[in-house]
Amino acid sequence: MQNLHYRVAVVGATGMVGQRFVTLLEGHPWFTPVALLASARSAGKTYEEAVGHKWAMTRPIPAYAKEMVVLDATADAKSLVGKVDFVFCAVDMKKEEIRALEETYAKLEIPVVSNNSAHRFTPDVPMIIPEVNPEHLGIIPAQRKRLGTKRGFIAVKSNCSLQSYVPLLHPLKKFGIESCAVCTYQAISGAGKTFETMPEIVDNVIPYIGGEEEKSEQEPLKIWGGIEGDAIVPAAGPVITAQCLRVPVSDGHTAAVFVKFANKPTKEEIFKAWADFEGEPQKLALPSAPKQFLHYFEEDNRPQPKLDRMLENGMAVSAGRLREDALFDYRFVGLSHNTLRGAAGGAVLLAELLAAKGYFD
Ligand code: NAP
Repeated sequence: MQNLHYRVAVVGATGMVGQRFVTLLEGHPWFTPVALLASARSAGKTYEEAVGHKWAMTRPIPAYAKEMVVLDATADAKSLVGKVDFVFCAVDMKKEEIRALEETYAKLEIPVVSNNSAHRFTPDVPMIIPEVNPEHLGIIPAQRKRLGTKRGFIAVKSNCSLQSYVPLLHPLKKFGIESCAVCTYQAISGAGKTFETMPEIVDNVIPYIGGEEEKSEQEPLKIWGGIEGDAIVPAAGPVITAQCLRVPVSDGHTAAVFVKFANKPTKEEIFKAWADFEGEPQKLALPSAPKQFLHYFEEDNRPQPKLDRMLENGMAVSAGRLREDALFDYRFVGLSHNTLRGAAGGAVLLAELLAAKGYFD
């Protein structure tokens, strides 16, 4: 892969996902961070002042970011024109406000790689897991036509919950997945929280995460859908039913998965499908791509968030405990790092795919 170089800004840089972006961009071979943006509350402060006690990464704030003066994501958007080649966006605002903010950047001819859910169901906005549906980038010319842009567009990544099971189901689609039940055990960083800011989770489980079950059931169908004309049309199936629980884990979403097939494979066929699976990021050797995307643990007590979330720099997806099921055909457990593979890392990988395919030129 050629040596690419693009300038990038992080919108929402002071948040939980934004901090991951700031960390991942330190020394990135292709992307140089040149601006950090957040709300008017943070604007005008140095990044170190603005992020203050909210810094939640285990590493210190990267030196390049400490003294950068944070800009206002709305008021200063125009000032980025000509200075950045694209932006990452992860903000906590009302959906309509996020939709408008992301379209503002796209219409300024600044492509947006987004972690937000606001545009996930806009029919001409691709929602990408780079290993699973890279072909959906083909909708970008239709989106540019609607927005009236030459360069500008919005591409989004999917919700973090489903990264623990959709990548594992994807190579099994050839056996005809008919239905799937999943229960997710989701880390508190998925709510932008730490144990300090969410003390109510200690010694507890909270059986509700607003909007998460709908996303977990519906987003996979758009990911497995196809481009028809100027829209991505969601797949008709499989039926997915989900329960999402918040558990006292800092990082790493676990999923207990049950799956029924039209043509039930053997266990060996499932192991082989997982071991052999590679996508465009592996073929293109993108800088953030895990070498082995899907890992299977033979041990009965794995994968565990604490032990296994950082596999391949937090970009791999793990599975374990594959066994037959009395109601469905099989059940297994999946795990992914929610703020790396599930959020900022997945978005960086998506941006690398977009860069490699020439969408930022
Ligand atoms: P967060 O920690 O609450 O951070 C929110 C960020 O949004 C901060 O930088 C904040 O800036 C900024 N912000 C708030 N109001 C704003 C405004 N009016 N204008 C501009 N910026 C504003 O949230 P998060 O967990 O990082 O999540 C951010 C987004 O990513 C959300 O849409 C979330 O659904 C999505 N997401 C999160 C995860 C995860 O694992 N955490 C996974 C996937 C997707 P200030 O510091 O100045 O207030």
